[in-house]
Amino acid sequence: MTFYNTLARHVLAPSMDLIRGTHTMRCLAELEESQWWPREPIEELQAERLQRLIEHAYARVPYYRALMDERGLRPCDIQSPTDLARLPVLTKGVVRMRPADLLAEGFPDSDLRLCTTSGSTGTPLTFYGTREDQASRGIARSLRACEWAGIRLGDRQAYVGRLHEDHGRREQLLHHLGLRARRVVHVDPNSLTNDALPAIVQRLARAHLQRLTGYPASLNVIASFIEQTSGQRLAFQSVVTGGEQLTDRERHVLTRAFGTEPHSKYSTSEVFDIASECEAHSGFHIAAEDVVVEVLDDNSVPVAQGQQGRIVVTNLHNYGMPFIRYDIGDTGSLLDEKCPCGRELPRLGGLIGRRNTHLHSRSGQRISPARLYLDRLASLPVMQYQVVQEDLDTVIMHLVPAGVPSPEELAALREKVRDMFAGDFGETIRFDVQFTDRIAPGAAGEHTFVFSKIDPIEPTAPPEADAPNSNLNTL
Ligand SMILES: [Zn+2]
Repeated sequence: MTFYNTLARHVLAPSMDLIRGTHTMRCLAELEESQWWPREPIEELQAERLQRLIEHAYARVPYYRALMDERGLRPCDIQSPTDLARLPVLTKGVVRMRPADLLAEGFPDSDLRLCTTSGSTGTPLTFYGTREDQASRGIARSLRACEWAGIRLGDRQAYVGRLHEDHGRREQLLHHLGLRARRVVHVDPNSLTNDALPAIVQRLARAHLQRLTGYPASLNVIASFIEQTSGQRLAFQSVVTGGEQLTDRERHVLTRAFGTEPHSKYSTSEVFDIASECEAHSGFHIAAEDVVVEVLDDNSVPVAQGQQGRIVVTNLHNYGMPFIRYDIGDTGSLLDEKCPCGRELPRLGGLIGRRNTHLHSRSGQRISPARLYLDRLASLPVMQYQVVQEDLDTVIMHLVPAGVPSPEELAALREKVRDMFAGDFGETIRFDVQFTDRIAPGAAGEHTFVFSKIDPIEPTAPPEADAPNSNLNTL
């Protein structure tokens, strides 16, 4: 722990909390303590928070009030995560179709944050988060996950990924100030061209960084470059990946190139951090203080521990637009053995989720999926999408339109999407739109919504029923 770590933790970060009106550091301190609790008090805290959320949802959220009335349920009927089975799963379709019914009545507008996501399953979505849920609780979970990888506030680190650019100018400014205070060197994933890589690696080497975080596909580009050249080497004390699934091959490449095994995180735009690898790299510890994770079969019935199923999450802190039993679209299993690290937070394994690749231009430029800002599709009548690079000259966006559009509406939608994205693929790539009825997940259930046939993703093997080392992660 250096002087700057102490300054960042006890002066700079609390000051940012004061300016932003958040209490991230208090939440972090609580999480640092509760991570070592035995299972029983963790479950008690989770049940207590769940009861409060259900009471709030029944009193203030029209969707849940009607749902519970229809089923003859009262808030006291849901006392623990086991009782959640009495409520249906919340699908992305419901969030898309009934956003007003999911908003809590009387919730202060100033605490709501309008969010769009490109969707972990290629389903764009608009929803509301809250300052409390995202900026306090969510960031605190993320900071704890980084601590499990050995990263402390104030450590010199590089971040290879997309910066948050929404939520207004004041929040953007505070976000950039926060990055400076945390001594984060940002690398735009779109800048990783063959020509630029030598200078980027040199820049990272000169900065004497201890930590590296970013999207697996982007870190893999840097790691592969280092491996293929005998030039500048990079070594980090810890590496954290997120935003998409880290494949086993990438895990090995990153470990060789950076001298340490990466830690992966599992999160979504809707819930923020859900689970993360600890130092044992043996599954993902669920942040059970803040989220309830269920693993269900196709009939929404919980599966036995170790069995693979759909991951459904209840976020215990979003009181603006509660997501109770939210079907993320990923699959995984709950592990029952104790983790060697000693934490009794439950663990997820066998995670299969989103996985994307960069696209390529003839000039050697790489186009990062994050750079396409696919969340813009949330404003259009689009149920699902997939971007496929057929060859160096052609990118096709496959779209599943919402409802039953007329030929004229389809033509208008195609034009809108072309206008929205045509400039993002460079001058040499032809971009087109095709409509389809369904975009199926991959053989193992993975969702790939941006991929290049030039640089295919390694196939994901179907996981063993109780595979301990899964590798889905999101930043
Ligand atoms: Zn552990």
